[in-house]
Amino acid sequence: MSRVPHPTRVVVAADDLAGAVAKLEQLRATGFDGVAEVLLAADAVQQAAHTTHQLQTAIDNIPAPIFSKDAGGVYGACNTAFEAYVGVSRDRIIGRTVHGIWSKDLADVYAAADRALFDAGGKQVYDAAVVYADGSRHEVTFYKGVLTDEHGAVTGLSGAMLDITERRVLERRLQELADTDPLTGAANRALFTRRVDEAVARPGDCPPAVLLIDLDDFKGINDTLGHEVGDHFLIAVTGVLRDALADGGLVARLGGDEFAVLLEDRAEARIEQVVRRVVAALARPVEAAGHPLTPRASIGVARGRADLLRHADIALYAAKDGGKSRCVHYRPGMRTRVIDHAATLTALRRALADDRLTLHYQPVVRLGDRTVTGVEALVRWTDPARGPVPPAEFLPVAERSGLIVPLGEWVLRAACRDGGQAPMTYVNVSARELRETGFADRVATALAISGLAPDRLVIEVTEAAMDDAAALAGLHRIRDLGARIALDDFGIGRASVALLAEVPVAVVKVHRSFTERITENGRHTAVARALARLADDLGIDAVAKGVETAAQARRLQEIGYRHAQGFHIGRPLPRSDHVPAGHIDPSARPGLGCPN
Ligand code: C2E
Ligand code: CA
Repeated sequence: MSRVPHPTRVVVAADDLAGAVAKLEQLRATGFDGVAEVLLAADAVQQAAHTTHQLQTAIDNIPAPIFSKDAGGVYGACNTAFEAYVGVSRDRIIGRTVHGIWSKDLADVYAAADRALFDAGGKQVYDAAVVYADGSRHEVTFYKGVLTDEHGAVTGLSGAMLDITERRVLERRLQELADTDPLTGAANRALFTRRVDEAVARPGDCPPAVLLIDLDDFKGINDTLGHEVGDHFLIAVTGVLRDALADGGLVARLGGDEFAVLLEDRAEARIEQVVRRVVAALARPVEAAGHPLTPRASIGVARGRADLLRHADIALYAAKDGGKSRCVHYRPGMRTRVIDHAATLTALRRALADDRLTLHYQPVVRLGDRTVTGVEALVRWTDPARGPVPPAEFLPVAERSGLIVPLGEWVLRAACRDGGQAPMTYVNVSARELRETGFADRVATALAISGLAPDRLVIEVTEAAMDDAAALAGLHRIRDLGARIALDDFGIGRASVALLAEVPVAVVKVHRSFTERITENGRHTAVARALARLADDLGIDAVAKGVETAAQARRLQEIGYRHAQGFHIGRPLPRSDHVPAGHIDPSARPGLGCPN
């Protein structure tokens, strides 16, 4: 095309809009800088207007705010939803920049975002919270992209804001659900460990502290009073812990009857204060579905940044090992606890197969003259790798896996074989064993092999083990063999007294919580006295458990107990360390005072 020297006005005719644009481009390429008039066919104009209208209607129908701006940041188009966001109609938007619409702060933010997009080119997606003109707050995802001409030059940008408020609410709710224990509403293990990790990583003068709390008697409560009461109990305990932490701290239920507390930004003395409050609170009865129940818990406390949870766990283990219902603070050098259940099961199975389990015997004596009237067989396991493992740790693993059945059979045979050492041999039997068909046959076999007279064997069961017909039938068969039945941890379950009428019980072993408070002369003492009397009336021997002091032994005798068991009287010891039968004088046999 030949050069047109400085024309001022040109008319360009075309069939449609695209044709007109192409011609104008050509014209400009010649250096033309005057006014170009475009002559278009009427239907082409109509078509263009129609298309524009349709596009506008289409974006107006979309509930997400949509807008476009030119390269100078001037709004060129927007939809109805965008008007609602800004709060003015489009004629007050189009033709202006962000500075003509928003407050300076917000305009600066948007201008900077636009600049970043122009610099980077392409598309931009980001989430932000925005406030609509009506004051409502929305979480949105911005989808922005540069507009280019057909040569790729940037001519502006377009944007859309997708409302994700509902999704975010849902996500937060899901996160909450993933973070909380559905029963108690406390934080769960996942959230707790996350918070501990965060607290440990946060710099500051006061390192965080963790309390691991393990309820001592929960299984008993669950088994004797039922799961519903158990659930209420866990909820109540959560409430107790929350109250004790009124001034802050995270309460979590890590699973089952394990709770945990995280304390942050507190000086040592204030952590001590909280620990004392928690210990005191857990010693008071709580109301669980109408039942007043005292939580009793073992507590491990640790503070610091390195290995915080592991240290708390070691302290908890030490608390349980020391006889439960204790609070122990972590000290460096404390024995490490191995909590790998699968590994425990494998090692225990091997120990049983290799005949490496042993039995300790704890004397049951007559309070009057300390004559040994029986011994209770207590299983012991020393793992080569981890040392002595407490029964409270490995028995639940054995019970859950079913290994308790062969393990129990081993205990039964070994105890019957050793049975000559005392007038009576008490053997603990778990619920799971009792329900197994053939349990009575196994007892009969153990008696036959050992030659032990059946009436010198006492099978100890807890109320928990008697909640179904199969278990009761098993107990009657054992009674028919001539062996005796002892009801262990008597007095803490609701069904205790009723059970005495149903089950052929020869001995009741009264739960150690009664002994613990026997010298206080409160309601515990009154109940303990009534239990002794009731047993007497029924011709049942009552044994007081957990006697740890001479004062307790005296008081128990005063209120009518004739038999007792406990560390004060004799610790569980290997058979070889025992006086075969008869009189035990704790002062004369220092070996009996040694920890097992
Ligand atoms: P349990 O039947 O209540 O046995 C008495 C437990 O109390 C023993 O713990 C004993 O060491 C401890 N103890 C004795 N005197 C005192 C005292 O004065 N104060 C305190 N605080 N504790 C005392 P151990 O040996 O750790 O056994 C724990 C539980 O494991 C036993 O509780 C029993 O239920 C179970 N268990 C032990 N051996 C066997 C077994 O061979 N088979 C089954 N199924 N369970 C067993
Ligand atoms: Ca027992």
